[in-house]
Amino acid sequence: MNFPPHFDHGELVAVLTTQPLGRALDYKAPEGGCHLGAFVEVPLGPRKVIGVVWGAGQGDYDYAKVRPVIRVLDVAPMREEMRMFLTRAAAYTLTPMPAMLRLGTRAPGLGDPPSMRKVYRRGAQEPERMTDARRRVLEVLAEYGDLAFTLKELADQAGVTASVVKGLVDQGAVHEEDSPRDLPFARLDPDLPGKALSADQAVAAEVLAEAVRSERYGTTLLRGVTGSGKTEVYLEAVAAALRAGRQALVLLPEIALTEQFLTRVQARFGAKPAEWHSGATMTERRRIWRMVGEGQAQLVIGARSALFLPFQNLGLIVVDEEHDTSYKQEDGVLYNARDMAVLRASICGAQVVLASATPSLETWANAEAGKYRRLELTSRYGAAVLPEMRAVDMREAGLPGDRWVSPVLKQEVDARLERGEQAMLFINRRGYAPVTLCRACGQQIGCDHCDARMVEHRFLKRLICHQCGESRPMPEACPSCEVEGKLAPVGPGVERLGEEAAALWPQARIATLSSDMYGSARALKAEIAGIAEGAADIVIGTQLVAKGHNFPKLTLVGIIDADLGLMGSDLRAAERSFQLIRQVAGRAGRAEAPGMALLQTYQPEHPVIRAILAGDEEEFWAAEAGERRQAGVPPYGRMAGIILSGPDLAQTFDAGNLLARQDGALRKIGAQVFGPAPAPIARVRGRHRVRLLVKAEKTAPLQEALAQWVAQLRLKGDLRLAVDIDPQSF
Ligand code: ADP
Ligand code: ZN
Repeated sequence: MNFPPHFDHGELVAVLTTQPLGRALDYKAPEGGCHLGAFVEVPLGPRKVIGVVWGAGQGDYDYAKVRPVIRVLDVAPMREEMRMFLTRAAAYTLTPMPAMLRLGTRAPGLGDPPSMRKVYRRGAQEPERMTDARRRVLEVLAEYGDLAFTLKELADQAGVTASVVKGLVDQGAVHEEDSPRDLPFARLDPDLPGKALSADQAVAAEVLAEAVRSERYGTTLLRGVTGSGKTEVYLEAVAAALRAGRQALVLLPEIALTEQFLTRVQARFGAKPAEWHSGATMTERRRIWRMVGEGQAQLVIGARSALFLPFQNLGLIVVDEEHDTSYKQEDGVLYNARDMAVLRASICGAQVVLASATPSLETWANAEAGKYRRLELTSRYGAAVLPEMRAVDMREAGLPGDRWVSPVLKQEVDARLERGEQAMLFINRRGYAPVTLCRACGQQIGCDHCDARMVEHRFLKRLICHQCGESRPMPEACPSCEVEGKLAPVGPGVERLGEEAAALWPQARIATLSSDMYGSARALKAEIAGIAEGAADIVIGTQLVAKGHNFPKLTLVGIIDADLGLMGSDLRAAERSFQLIRQVAGRAGRAEAPGMALLQTYQPEHPVIRAILAGDEEEFWAAEAGERRQAGVPPYGRMAGIILSGPDLAQTFDAGNLLARQDGALRKIGAQVFGPAPAPIARVRGRHRVRLLVKAEKTAPLQEALAQWVAQLRLKGDLRLAVDIDPQSF
């Protein structure tokens, strides 16, 4: 093992913290010294904060005044690779280092001295007096059953102060104990027999294994329709990494992290991998963070932020469903996990596998250009064939305004029910109805804080804003004209479709899958597992059902509104619709029973619909690529969004206009500015958002020019600016 450079007691070190100061500050190394990369506690004004020793101090002022590091934390120093990754990621996304460091140190409780780690569980007694705050604490403990929390975690989760928890401890309602040592993960065995691979699976697996063994960086696009065995193939690449003594990371879109998937991984390697996702308790996160850092956790299955775990010896990153838009973090640090995976791998000499049935245009273009290796699985595993795709012309369906299942779809579902197979109805809209209209005054109910409609969720009996999460009980009277009993739902959401299905098929067992119907991710996972085992005849769902689940008995997918998503001016709309519809349709049909997908559409002649029906992906991608190249937009040009937000619309626009006029730095690199215009989400949580779009040639030094450009703007008052490199919509 290589030890990082060491600073002796009293030497000056530069410590970077997550406090928004911008740069590392000088401190004196503590007694016993510290290593480069060490996690340390330092004084900052009157406070103590955690930071990382980022390098030697500058020593550009009075040595006597420099304060000493308080202590070195009992965790492995941050590796050079990781520091380099954070630095480059910050430079690419134009994120200040402190914010980037926060992503790399997100092990909660990192700052607790080991001796202070008490953990809390449900105790034996009932509290003498029950209050709301106390009840919340007990509810959190009840929900997580056997898990123990630290004091801060528990208080945060319950939204109470630490003293509430302490009060419950005094009464015996909460039990306090010393934290156990972090439990190691069971060893994974890459040599357990995997499935016998088909010929083209075996070829792909061997190419990937060979690449992993090279211990060099490389990226591969693994393309194949749903069910072609991409997962089987990349698990062999994982096995190769484990055999070589290296760690592996599999990234999944958050909602694809299912029990089914974990069980499959466990079956392949004989033990559970580490699972990193937003629902994990902080105790579990801390355990994973440590075990990954010590090289003890061999395989992590995680959502996008797992990229920032302190891997010791990472040999492989798989990005499954690489085209998925949820890889782009849209809050805080704006990064695309797919691109950051490539960056991270290139720094640590790892292989990247980008798996998808419908790759993003970016990845497609990189593969075409020879930057990425390309592997194809051309057929479904075994006898399974692609579903037959058919359009249902809704102009001829003759449905009343409150019905969405066409007679053709009805018939096909009937046939499935008769044969004991499953059918799925897909609609990408949560809630009961997208619009709630007052029949007295004609107003639609909108969110008070956003430029969005309030959506009725009948199951929860609430109106919810899908933009900011604002929610209120469903009113009796119209909020505008105050007339009662005139509010009417307009259009279908997943819950309303569920009602229609219940009326059409009263005997069928219908499962409506929507995130708000399940109290927890766990309950949802259990429901999905049940469906896979045949506990429902008809599955109704949103995007939630599009990903990562195998429903072996599912042979029909009805896409209620294939046109949704084709509207709007977004240049990526076609790509997204294509991917989503292909993906949902791909759920139908498995080894024994061939599948069918019906696309209900009002525009069967639309190019995207036609491309989906024809199943000609190459042609679709090529046509899309042509248009993007023509327009000079990604992946053939570079784009960045600048989002200004503030409480006052006119002021926000003024700032945008000012910025747009001072575009010297951009013109120097031949870049163009568009806007300001209202951002795609024009108002969120009471803040107005205005966007400028910058477009540049592929090779232009965009980040440097942008940094210079935005630095000119002095942000007054509550105005904020965020840079979004490679925006999702343009
Ligand atoms: P994808 O990731 O491309 O959607 P999967 O790897 O999930 O495909 O494979 C689809 C289904 O086919 C899974 O149930 C998987 O276990 C099965 N399968 C794929 N390849 C094989 C194989 N070589 N032997 C046995 N079953 C396989
Ligand atoms: Zn809102």
